[in-house]
Amino acid sequence: MKTDRKTKNWILLFLLLLCLGALGVFCARSLSAPAVTARVSVDGECVKVIDLRAVTLPYEFEVSSELGRNLVRVEHGCIAVIESDCPEQICVRQGFVQESGIPIVCLPHRLVIELEDGE
Ligand SMILES: [Zn+2]
Repeated sequence: MKTDRKTKNWILLFLLLLCLGALGVFCARSLSAPAVTARVSVDGECVKVIDLRAVTLPYEFEVSSELGRNLVRVEHGCIAVIESDCPEQICVRQGFVQESGIPIVCLPHRLVIELEDGE
């Protein structure tokens, strides 16, 4: 009888831990899910879509059109224009953005980098 009860307790404990573990994974996922997709467009045309969460090593790429040139840096979870030959340099001064709703805009080059919550 005693051993049976002990075994039951162990099974209950095990199940409890399993539930907590699953809950933990679920919470971690929903917490780390400011799913960020960066949509780079020039003159209203989307030229690049980047899943910023999938970025492990930072990299840079150039967006150039007849209007000008922008150097974009991509890091895990954030994105920035680090170089531009536009006169105002507003896009460069904006620095890294990592939240949706705040797009990087380079007006003279008609470059827009929007961040979206993506699933
Ligand atoms: Zn600019």
